[in-house]
Amino acid sequence: MVTKASIKKVKKSVQPLLVVGTVAVDSVETPFGKRDECFGGSASYFSYSASFFTPVRLVAVVGKDFPSQYRKVLEEKNINLEGLQIHPTGKTFRWKGKYDFDLNNAQTLETHLNVLLQFDPVVKGGNQVDYLFLANFDPTLQMKVLKQVERPRVKLVALDTMNFWIQNKRKDLKTVIEHVDLIVLNDGETRQLTGENNLIKAARKIRDMGPDIIVVKKGEHGVLLFYRDQFFALPAFPLDSVFDPTGAGDTFAGGMMGYIAKQNSVTFDTLKRAVAYGSVMASFTVEKFSLDRLRELGGSDIDERLSEFRALTKF
Ligand code: AMP
Repeated sequence: MVTKASIKKVKKSVQPLLVVGTVAVDSVETPFGKRDECFGGSASYFSYSASFFTPVRLVAVVGKDFPSQYRKVLEEKNINLEGLQIHPTGKTFRWKGKYDFDLNNAQTLETHLNVLLQFDPVVKGGNQVDYLFLANFDPTLQMKVLKQVERPRVKLVALDTMNFWIQNKRKDLKTVIEHVDLIVLNDGETRQLTGENNLIKAARKIRDMGPDIIVVKKGEHGVLLFYRDQFFALPAFPLDSVFDPTGAGDTFAGGMMGYIAKQNSVTFDTLKRAVAYGSVMASFTVEKFSLDRLRELGGSDIDERLSEFRALTKF
């Protein structure tokens, strides 16, 4: 018999998308301004963006110094924070970056791993995860997470990384790459990981490492999607004012994975639309510092921009 209580239970357990990554305090400088100690982190941008499409569960760690108003930002989108550990003594992960005139390249000035050094990610209900995103963070920890989900059940495991980990933990990163279905990288990271300048050849090399789906982000020049032997290219949504590119990649991934999880499908057609949604989400993030612009988005903003984007790319 379906009682009210059992309906509630079923509803509560619908959490198709899980993200594990960083929840951070960032300090960012761009040619247009500077913001100290603002809300950031790969899992923060990802989950906020994905939550426009599907329910999201987050696993990460912060210190006791993590500002409560930043936690509220995630709560306002009903992101499930049961997996957000609060370390009793350590400080929250901090990143300081700068963009010069070329906004496509972030210059990392400081990375303080802090609580990430002792982080032991715990995935409760690993046998209920349908879609998993291993956001940019330590590949050893990404592997630890992967071991906690039931591989035959999970429909898609995706991974993001960055130059910091390619340089410092290449071996561990390659091990985790072997076990994922989708990898999302920017063009510089793709070249750095493979030692191959040509992105098509580089994507083939990555495919040989394990993933079937490779998504190469090229900042203002758009995105390339490789799915087995099929290929799709999309420009970026053209903007006349890019203010702060921080989080664009994570927001892109959030829109992409959120859409895939919502459709509950991993066909080439779904993936093409997913990268379009990802591009639209990223185009909002870069218009303001931190998650500020995402927080302003209303019901129809995403679809309106997607229609504009569709009109711009159709010929
Ligand atoms: P992106 O989408 O690539 O611009 O990512 C920006 C976010 O990544 C920032 O909010 C940072 O807090 C976070 N971040 C920076 N460095 C790292 C790192 N080494 N590992 C994980 N997250 C990082």
